[in-house]
Amino acid sequence: MPAQALTERIIGWRRSLHKIPELGFQEHQTSAFVESRLREIGLTEIRTGVARTGVVATIRAGAGGNDGAVLLRADMDALPVQEVEGREYGSETPGKMHACGHDGHMAMLLGAATLLHERKDSLKQDVVLCFQPAEEGAGGGREMVEGGELDLTGVSRAFAIHLWSLYPAGTVHTRPGPIMAAQDEFTAWFRGRGGHGAAPHNARDPIVAASLGVVALQTVVSRFVDPLSPAVATVGSMHGGSACNIIPEVTELIGTLRSFDPDVRLLLRHRVEEAFAGAARSAGCELEFEVRPGYPAVVNDAESATIAGSVAGRLFGKEKVFETPPLAASEDFAYFLQKVPGAFILLGAGNEERGITAPHHSPQFDIDESALPKGAELLAALAME
Ligand SMILES: [Zn+2]
Ligand SMILES: [Zn+2]
Repeated sequence: MPAQALTERIIGWRRSLHKIPELGFQEHQTSAFVESRLREIGLTEIRTGVARTGVVATIRAGAGGNDGAVLLRADMDALPVQEVEGREYGSETPGKMHACGHDGHMAMLLGAATLLHERKDSLKQDVVLCFQPAEEGAGGGREMVEGGELDLTGVSRAFAIHLWSLYPAGTVHTRPGPIMAAQDEFTAWFRGRGGHGAAPHNARDPIVAASLGVVALQTVVSRFVDPLSPAVATVGSMHGGSACNIIPEVTELIGTLRSFDPDVRLLLRHRVEEAFAGAARSAGCELEFEVRPGYPAVVNDAESATIAGSVAGRLFGKEKVFETPPLAASEDFAYFLQKVPGAFILLGAGNEERGITAPHHSPQFDIDESALPKGAELLAALAME
């Protein structure tokens, strides 16, 4: 297919998907759309309903010498965000929007499927095209990889591209080692004894305990974590009490922990609980603490990151390829990279001149669609490498 025709198709697919955003594990229309397009392209080995709403297709190597497969992954879910009005191909579902670019990820992977199907006679390895549901927090990647529905035994390398509106369209950014953070959420309940605000000595004040806890938390990263290892501990919510003259029974803190090193991740959980426990004790209160583990860090294999950089340089020019600093966001491609070597790659999709600068997850979020055919080409080239 001529490049121009494919570009138009990829953009058309993205716009169609943009109109039908679905949240994690509810991607039924999306999954049907992906399956039909794969069949139109000519693929026949397609599994649907993988990890509930995922789609996995395989393209068999035509060139023999088959030693392992390459997996290419696109995520499928949208977000509970109300899109700004007035877009020609805007979301047709109130309150839901592809505000992270996953519509573009699917379109790019369909584009790569087109290219790889055309080139299958010169493919030296099988290619697994993985459309994964529920990236935005619900753990679709974990369900696919650890639920046993996606067998990674034959896979020798895995790649995923994430469009990035904060980088200029068409630029490619990756790095060896950790590229996105591990994320854990915590809740701490400081339990005291309620009483009259004018007689604090007869009560045990959990607001004071929780306040000391917030202050003690500030020493965790600054005093216990190696300064060369990035980490964040943030309290994002603090709730307790109902009136000026009542000491409440309980005060609740909710927060997030971010890190890149698995040891630092464990240390954060442990030290935050210790800091809170000490604060609670000193105020005569008791602590209940709960951690809800989020995604692990996305850790790129060094060789795969180098391959990604050099393939991108060959396709688009070395001046378009950058080493990104690690980002404190998190991504469930992490689970794939815990099993097989590979790389997570950011593809710039911003354009200041055209006003495409809104951050991911915002109602104004958009992408410069000129990045889409580039992403398709890069994915296909990585699978041919
Ligand atoms: Zn997102
Ligand atoms: Zn995303």
